[in-house]
Formats: sequence, C-alpha cells, structure tokens
Amino acid sequence: MSNRREFLKITASGALFLSVRNLFSATSLKGFNGNQNKGLPIVISTWKYGLSPNLKAGNILLNKGSAIDAVEAGLVVAENELLEKDLNYNGIFDYDGHIKLDACIMNDKGIYASVASIEHIRNPVSVARRAMNKRPYILLVGDDALKFANENGFKEENLLTPKSKEAWKIFKESSSQKSHNNKIERLIGMLALDSFGNLSGASTSFESLKTTDRVGVFPIIGSGLYIDNEIGGACVTGIGESVIDISGCRTIVELMKHAKSPEDACKEAIERILSKQPNNKDIQVGFLALRKDGEIGACSVQKGFRYSYWDENENSIKDAKYTVGFGVKEYYVINYDCIACGACLKECPVKAISQGEIYIIDPNLCTCCGACADVCPVEAIHPN
Ligand code: SF4
Ligand code: SF4
Repeated sequence: MSNRREFLKITASGALFLSVRNLFSATSLKGFNGNQNKGLPIVISTWKYGLSPNLKAGNILLNKGSAIDAVEAGLVVAENELLEKDLNYNGIFDYDGHIKLDACIMNDKGIYASVASIEHIRNPVSVARRAMNKRPYILLVGDDALKFANENGFKEENLLTPKSKEAWKIFKESSSQKSHNNKIERLIGMLALDSFGNLSGASTSFESLKTTDRVGVFPIIGSGLYIDNEIGGACVTGIGESVIDISGCRTIVELMKHAKSPEDACKEAIERILSKQPNNKDIQVGFLALRKDGEIGACSVQKGFRYSYWDENENSIKDAKYTVGFGVKEYYVINYDCIACGACLKECPVKAISQGEIYIIDPNLCTCCGACADVCPVEAIHPN
C-alpha cells in the first residue's frame, strides 16, 4: 500500500496527471476511461506460464522500478522456469537436436533489439536488452548473436541436458517426428506499465522441432511486439508467419491510436489475418494489448487462449475472448506442471499420450475429446 500512496503522491504533484491527460486529450481516444486502473502498475503476459514471471515483474514495479527492468526480469524467470521444466518433461530441441532461442525487447522510448536462433545462452532476453543499449544493433542472429553475447559477458551453457538428448532420440525414433505439426512451443510475450506511466514489452520463445532455418515472429519487432509509449503496446502468441503478414502488434497499436479499444484492436488484427488467409482455418494466433491508461485487450482466432494478469491486488489467469472459433481440432498439450501421475494415460481412448518419463500428446492421434484434461489433478493439460 505504501507504493500506492507514493504513486498517488506523484499523481497529486501533477506531473503524471498532466502528462496523461494531455496525451489523451491530444489523441482524442474515444475508449479511454480515466477511472480504469488509475495508472497503477500492470503486467500482462501470454499464457498461464506468465504467473510467476508477472509476479517478479510486478514486484519490481511495486518498488518503483521501470517497466523495462520489469519485463526483462520477468522474462528471465520465464526463460529459467520453462527451460528447466520443459527439459525435464518434454525436452526442447530443434530437428537437429539443438536448442536455439529467440527474444526481443522494446522500451518506452521506442528503442528495441532482438536476438534470434541463439544457442548456448539461457537468457536471450538479457542479450537483447544489452543489444538494445548498444545501438545500432537491432537484430542479431545465430552465431553472431552468440558472439555478441560472449563479448558482453554472457556465460555459455549446454542447454541440451542428457534428459533432453534422450527425449530427442525418442522423438527421432517415433512415428510422429514425420510431422512438422508436432511441436511444443514455449513462448511468452509480456507488457508492463510502470507507476510512472511508462510502457515496455518483451517476448521470448523456445520452439521445439523448429527447422533450423526458420525464424518465427517473436524477435520481429512490429510483428511480435510493439510499444508506443504515448498509446500502448501489444504482444502475440501463435503462428508467426500469419502475424508477420499484417505486422500484427504495430497494427494493434495503430488501431488503438485511432480510437479502437485494446480489445477491438486485437479483434480487428485477428480479422485481418483471417481475411488474408480465409482457407487457413486451423491456425491459432492470440494478441494481447495494454493501453496507456491500463485498459487491456485480448483476442485470438481459436478458443483457448489465456493470459496472465498482474496488478497490486491480483495475479491471475484470464481467458481471452475469441473471434472466430471455427471449431477446428485444438489438440491438447501437457505442460511442465505434470507430476507424472499417469491418470491421463489411462483415460486417453486413442493412446495419443506417450508413456514414460517424458509425457507428450501426439496431435496426429489426439481426437480432442478432453478426457485427459478432465482427469489431470494439476491442470497440466490444456488445449494448445
Ligand atoms: S484430448 Fe482425448 S484423445 Fe487427446 S490426448 Fe487427451 S484423452 Fe487423448
Ligand atoms: S494426468 Fe496430468 S499430472 Fe498426471 S500424468 Fe497426465 S498430465 Fe501429468
């Protein structure tokens, strides 16, 4: 509460109030409601994996930290957690048995940087932050990203643990490895609004079974992440190429600038994706937007997109509205909360869940009956 009092003191001094009021009167945002969140710190991130990263970021904001420090620290938690837990349960590796990561970061001044396909580095978001501070670097890829990390004091690690190597071997020997659809994606996009009214964002992604020459949407500024400190920010999850097609996150911020509410802006971006790809009904893309006044929007193509929300009173998971919901197959995934109880294995009528230490659902076999999710005692299974 002392933070709240401090914030109100700042507001009473007039500086923040004036800057926010001037901003919104200047841009005439119709959807702006001055009562919403009152400019208090907020953190949102894609998926339920965002809960503990949000908490870390939120604690920084409560202590008067900046949004940029908050998103970096939050995503370091996400990277450590997901990497360690996924290595334990699902394994992360690309088709050639490597672990290559992507990340990007953008601050309230519109400065950004990204790294793509970086290997041997646990926290690519921090490498991106370092690159952001050392402009003119904008996008560092592969060996060059690693070289930059080395030159800037980041420690190399072998992220492919023996357990993960074993998982890769099993995968290579299994029938499902023929399909490019059999992917495990672990990605988080995060947006933060600090108590000074500044916005920043970051995203990080681990994608298993990635072909070695593909870079997805997450390190592409404008598509995978965008911040305009006078308007708001947006981040995304889902099929990257579809999002790049419409410069998704930049589009959302522009729509908010032109008086769309965050939710309507996300919805319109989804509709633009679908209008470009009317026959591609089985994609999933979910956008998150955070406007300068604290209003949030979330929208996805298919049902099932969730996001994590933090403010000083709450740290919770919320369901996004969905626009289209074609009713297509939404195969299920098992996440790192799995305690290996085996209940889902017994329940699956088509043996889509592979048994053993490493649990995985084969999307080619899964009929989306939901039986496994119903029995899971720890909510480790959910629609992808
Ligand atoms: S949703 Fe049904 S078919 Fe798919 S893995 Fe779960 S139990 Fe098996
Ligand atoms: S029911 Fe849930 S906790 Fe048990 S093995 Fe399946 S995914 Fe893991």
